[in-house]
Amino acid sequence: MTDLLIEHFGDIVDLRFTADMESKLDTVEEGAQDGVTVLQAFYTPFHEQIVKAGTAMEKVKLQTVLTGEKCPECKEGDLVIKEGRYGKFIACTNFPTCKYTRNQETTVDAICPLCGSGLLLKTSRKSRNRTFYTCDRKGQDPECPFINWDLPIPDQKCETCGSYMVMKSFRGKSYPRCGNRDCPTNARKPKETGKAREDGK
Ligand SMILES: [Zn+2]
Ligand SMILES: [Zn+2]
Ligand SMILES: [Zn+2]
Repeated sequence: MTDLLIEHFGDIVDLRFTADMESKLDTVEEGAQDGVTVLQAFYTPFHEQIVKAGTAMEKVKLQTVLTGEKCPECKEGDLVIKEGRYGKFIACTNFPTCKYTRNQETTVDAICPLCGSGLLLKTSRKSRNRTFYTCDRKGQDPECPFINWDLPIPDQKCETCGSYMVMKSFRGKSYPRCGNRDCPTNARKPKETGKAREDGK
């Protein structure tokens, strides 16, 4: 996307352009050039570029990438990676006859803390495009239940419950946290009442 923007809005992004525009405006003030002409000179190419970029972006959006996989539902169509408003997803070429879609999976360079198999990064379309990790279930446990919003930390166990640990990212900070939701270390800390009592004395 950024490349596209630079390609099509090169003139506008260019700082020299702004300087040029400013000097043109100066000329207008001096009465040397008609103000309307200068503004037209600015808006016309700008508008053309927006139209041009729009068409190019439309093409990018429609571009589909073959996964090499056959559709598991209609068994006729090919599965392609499409880019929609909510990110990439996989769909059947027989759409709209076949409604098969699934979220695109990305393999991550990490190991499942439960079974030692690989991990996949998936996008939750229900939770505003939040990404999460699941086990690829290609290891010894085809039913491995691993799923977490955060990436597990290799070779680290929770001191309290013995569960795997994850690297939690919150408001720009990262810190290790127990991957077991029911672990006491993940319980919400009760509000501190001690201070209020002290103040009351
Ligand atoms: Zn299909
Ligand atoms: Zn697993
Ligand atoms: Zn724990």
